[in-house]
Amino acid sequence: MARRGIGAALIVVALILVGGAGQPSHAQSGGTVHIVQRSETLSAIARRYGVTVDAIAHANGIPDPRHIYVGQRLVIPTLTTDEPLTTTKPYIFQAGDTLASIARRYHTTWQRLARLNRILAPGVIYTGQVIQVPSSETEDAGLTYVVRPDDTLLRIALRYGVDPWHLMAANRVGNPALIYPGQALLIPGAGPSVLPVPFLSVDVRPLPVKQGEVIYIAVRTTEPVTLTGRLFEQEVRFAEENGIYYGLLGVHVFTEPGLYALELSATNGQGQETGLSTAVVVAAGRFYHERIDLPAGRANLLDPAAIARDRERLDAARAIFTTRRHWTIPFERPCPGSISAYFGSRRAYNGGPYTSYHSGIDFRVPGGTPVRAAAAGTVVLAEPLMLWGNAVVIDHGWGVLTGYAHLGKIEVEVGQHVEPGEVIAAVGNTGLSTGAHLHWEMWVGGISVNGLQWLEGHSPWPASEWLAVGG
Ligand SMILES: [Zn+2]
Repeated sequence: MARRGIGAALIVVALILVGGAGQPSHAQSGGTVHIVQRSETLSAIARRYGVTVDAIAHANGIPDPRHIYVGQRLVIPTLTTDEPLTTTKPYIFQAGDTLASIARRYHTTWQRLARLNRILAPGVIYTGQVIQVPSSETEDAGLTYVVRPDDTLLRIALRYGVDPWHLMAANRVGNPALIYPGQALLIPGAGPSVLPVPFLSVDVRPLPVKQGEVIYIAVRTTEPVTLTGRLFEQEVRFAEENGIYYGLLGVHVFTEPGLYALELSATNGQGQETGLSTAVVVAAGRFYHERIDLPAGRANLLDPAAIARDRERLDAARAIFTTRRHWTIPFERPCPGSISAYFGSRRAYNGGPYTSYHSGIDFRVPGGTPVRAAAAGTVVLAEPLMLWGNAVVIDHGWGVLTGYAHLGKIEVEVGQHVEPGEVIAAVGNTGLSTGAHLHWEMWVGGISVNGLQWLEGHSPWPASEWLAVGG
């Protein structure tokens, strides 16, 4: 079996400005430096900054654009030389931003921003795109928020996505308990919202999101709303926690890389509906290719009727959405042992085409080894299936579920609450399996995703927010 690439790739947008914020970031005297991440290509990097591959290759003396390496520092020549010398800083496009709204915020014109960034099509800008903006003291300092009776400082900080200490410092509040209704607080860095009321902010990450990863959407609003969303022609369901609406959706491994519209709709208490549309970018993941030859006795298990029966049971489970979150990050490893098959591997059975993929992670581990719940939740399936063999599915809330297949003995019942690390079964070799192993699967919004990232704590959830919400 041929293995290529890597199973789990983590995107870190590493952006630094050479010379610091006080220096002109000019193509000739510095510029934005991009650190090449795993599985990035020069053309993807060029696309992100709105420059050409040739321009980057030329600026960095790269003879062959196919040959870049992880960790390589690339100077991004984002500025033209005919612009007056100006200090700039990177700005990451947020949902709802337009070149014109950014220009207003930084007291310049959209035409100048377009020139600065060599943007040829100002309408085609996506959430997460990095542009250079003039860095000056005239940037609007923030917005003013009037404290309401049921507010706490932490909730206000969360709602606007600012650090609570930063918020306290900006308002010279020594004790977070001593804020009072009617008090005017400066929300530092929030800037005048460019979003239509009632939207305050829309946070989407990671950007770009890769095939097989989870997209995280956090929406803050000026008042309680009913929020719905659509992405990849699929519904995004939201759950509210501490006044913030969270939506999680898996990106199917076969989703074509490219730009997709995320449509949000908020309906307030008076029944007024407000829509918001933004673009998100899906990048290609890297997956192994595996050829699998099934022994004759097992091959007849690939009977379409058996597959359909299993699919019906599993589809019913993966469609579950409950509004209470039981899980925290990272998830726990469900059993010891080495990984014998990664998520997303393209698979060809008995010499056929690569039309299927491995939807979970296989742990090679002796039969009888305890299998543990990866996170807290409720057992929603515990029964023998044809392909999965003895199977357990746990609902962790917010559309996040984990599945455990080919089990020996099942030790839980449907409806039972389990704690993280609680023993739910023993490893076995039941169903379509050619040796004792655990097939572990994770679903988010009904889509199979790479659970390894959540085991390693590489979920898209922002760490600061996570501590505040999960504590
Ligand atoms: Zn498997």
